[in-house]
This record gives sequence, structure tokens and C-alpha cells, in this order.
Amino acid sequence: MSDEIYYERWHRLVRELEREGIIKSKKVKTAFFRVPRHLFVPERYKDYAHIDEPLPIPAGQTISAPHMVAIMLEIADLEEGMNVLEIGTGSGWNAALIYELVKRDVYTIERIPELVEFARRNLERAGYKDKVHVILGDGTKGFPPKAPYDVIIVTAGAPKVPEPLIEQLKVEGKLIIPVGSYHLWQDLYEVIKINEDNKVKIITHGGVAFVPLIGEHGWKR
Ligand code: SAM
Repeated sequence: MSDEIYYERWHRLVRELEREGIIKSKKVKTAFFRVPRHLFVPERYKDYAHIDEPLPIPAGQTISAPHMVAIMLEIADLEEGMNVLEIGTGSGWNAALIYELVKRDVYTIERIPELVEFARRNLERAGYKDKVHVILGDGTKGFPPKAPYDVIIVTAGAPKVPEPLIEQLKVEGKLIIPVGSYHLWQDLYEVIKINEDNKVKIITHGGVAFVPLIGEHGWKR
């Protein structure tokens, strides 16, 4: 099948997400158009990349459903020049979308070495090799070398808000993170840092279902 069909199907889904009111802003729509999901799924799932559901990636993990990624990016309200950390690289797709919104280097942490390789390959093929930096490690500890961040987006479910992530936010910066049970379900939290003493305000955005965030300040396994 020619690649054109994959782009056509992808553009159709993006317009559908906009009609449904899930994609709200022009900037998120533009980013979605620029980063088609079929470049980030394993070859055997390419035909399903335009379907609005999570798909398997190596190591028993998932690439999130497009509507979920759109919801998180709309809440994040990213602007050009923002310093953003993503936790849970997976396929690298969301990190590439983040790059298209902030237009500066993006840092993303993944705990599974096989996925670090998978994401780097996808990002290189899609043209983000020097723009998105994939780091192997425990994202619950954040990534101090590039802190403080305007926004931290966590794409795995935590038992509670990891304290180091609040510490690594700028004042008025926000952390977007699913918090709840190990498997299904979590609440999607928007955590806004109010002052230097790490006081926060939390807004909840409804129920979501993510794979667990495993690490020192997450689930132990
Ligand atoms: N954002 C990804 C994408 O665009 O494909 C999807 C992420 S997937 C739903 C969640 C990822 O979080 C998995 O790849 C998992 O290995 C990773 N993860 C879980 N705990 C982690 C931790 N403590 N640090 C970094 N990554 C973690």
C-alpha cells in the first residue's frame, strides 16, 4: 500500500477529532497533521494507526489512543519556546507532537531499554532525531539537568503525584498526570505549582486508563 493512503486516513481521523470537540485548538490540530501516528507503531499495526484506540508497542506497552493524547495536549496548552519534559516515551509519538508545539528540544524519559531504541528509531525516521532526546531512566525522579520545566506530561498512571516532579516545575508550571489505581482506572490530574514551597492546585479532568508508572516515586512493580 502506498504511504499516501496512511496520510489520508490519518487526516480524516484528525478532522473527526476536531468535529467531536476533542481537538479544540488550531495549534494541536496542526501538530497532529504534522506527526502521523503510522510512523510510530510497529509495522504490523500500521493499518490500524488511524483508529482511535491504543495499540501495542514492544515490551507489552501501548501507544495511547489519539483522543487521549489530544486531551492531554489541549490541557497542557503548550506555547513555542516552552521547556517540556515527557515521562513515558513509549513510541516517541507524543514527544514528536510536543516538539511541533514548542519548537525547541524536548526531553522524554523511558524506563525500558527496548522502547528507548524503538522510540529513537521512530523519531529518526520521522525527522526528530536532534529535536527529541530520549533518556533511559526512572521518570518518577524527573530529569534535573534540564529543570525547571514549564510543563511535565506523564503518560503512565501513578499511585500519587511524585514530589520530585513538582520540585522540577517552574512556579505556575503544570504537571499533567494520571493518578489512581495500578491498572484501570485513574483520574487525569492537572497539577499547577503555586509557589516556591511546592504548594499546588489540582484540577481533575475525568477518568482515564494508562499502563502503570513504575519507579521510585511510582508503583514499585
Ligand atoms: N507517550 C507514549 C507514546 O507516545 O507512545 C505512550 C506511553 S505508554 C502509554 C507509557 C510508557 O511509560 C511505557 O512505555 C512505560 O514503559 C513507561 N514508563 C512507566 N514507568 C516509567 C518510569 N518510571 N519512567 C519512564 N517511563 C516509564
